[in-house]
Amino acid sequence: MPVDMAPPEAFSRDDPVADRYQPPDVGELEELAGVLADGRLSGGAPILAAYEQALAAYFGSAHAVAVNSGSSALHAALHALGASGGAEVMVPAIAPLPTALPILTAVATPVVVDVLPGSLALDPDDVRRKLTARTRAALTVPLWGYPADCHAAAEVLADAGVALIEDAAQAHGTRFRGQLAGTLHTIGCFSTHDRKLLSTGEGGFVLTNDPTLYESIEHYTRLGHLRGHTHGVNYKLAAPLAAIGLRRLAHLDAQLRQRRANAARVLTALPDDGRLAELTYGPRDAPNYYNLVLTTRTPAADAAARLAEAGLLPDTIRYGYRPLHQQRLFARWASGPCPNAEALVAATLQLPVHPDLNDQALQWVARQIATVADQQEPS
Ligand SMILES: *Cc1c(COP(=O)(O)O)cnc(C)c1O
Repeated sequence: MPVDMAPPEAFSRDDPVADRYQPPDVGELEELAGVLADGRLSGGAPILAAYEQALAAYFGSAHAVAVNSGSSALHAALHALGASGGAEVMVPAIAPLPTALPILTAVATPVVVDVLPGSLALDPDDVRRKLTARTRAALTVPLWGYPADCHAAAEVLADAGVALIEDAAQAHGTRFRGQLAGTLHTIGCFSTHDRKLLSTGEGGFVLTNDPTLYESIEHYTRLGHLRGHTHGVNYKLAAPLAAIGLRRLAHLDAQLRQRRANAARVLTALPDDGRLAELTYGPRDAPNYYNLVLTTRTPAADAAARLAEAGLLPDTIRYGYRPLHQQRLFARWASGPCPNAEALVAATLQLPVHPDLNDQALQWVARQIATVADQQEPS
């Protein structure tokens, strides 16, 4: 067989499985045609209200505010909680840059907090140690779509009157004890950037059950509705993007089912001796499989390099992902090491299991996992 007719399952470093998910056509053009015919394209168009209602209904939240990015969602949430002008905002050391940058946008001071061992959850003892009279908010990140069990830290924060914001940008459909990520604490922030499970190209939204915070976020992101009573910015989502989001939201559950089925298939390649394991979560939790995340018992640098060699780039290689206090921009706010976060970041590997992966691609990813597992130290 000529080389250019190699079968599609012949994945390699030069032709790795597609990392990027291309959602299927679910009638977006029809919805867009309706918006264009209506002629109102701004974030004040009626389709925005329809999109926000659909988001609130899907997540079972009293209120949803659509905005133009996940970063805007986080900034608006911080602003509504008074986290500006030198106030302190706690952020877990496992947070990627996009979670933490909005703290700087709000002109607040980041306070980097460690996580519990092997977990994405804020360590309640470190939270207690680092609370001050200036702490206004804390962030938690169900990263890669894995639930972060922050209930212990949330109690410490609630006792101090500090609100918890979920950065659920990667966690559409993730469940913690049956409840959807983004609805677990005071405010949930989502991104609908092209790489997220719900994509409008660029975009985001905020969920809250608190009517006062809702009003504050709604006004702030819409120029204070130009009443001249309160300051505001223009973070509105444009109508054509809301139209895309509205159609795609209806297909989120089908995407979640496929991601979970794909993850289950690939996970059959894991050895059962724990050399390589999935990032842990509780029996009533469900990741959304934004990524499938594996953890090694010893630092994963060699395993990460091997996967990268096969064309499957873990976050430490693709994005230079490292603990927040080790990022140059945030180092000045570091207050010592965060050993649990450092260990977790060093031991995680992220893999694609999105719905575009066909049987051959899934088998190939499973084979790469089996190879990496074989190269781990046995117990
Ligand atoms: C994508 C992302 C953001 C930022 O969202 P944008 O829409 O790109 O502004 C924030 N936090 C996390 C965890 C993300 O993955």
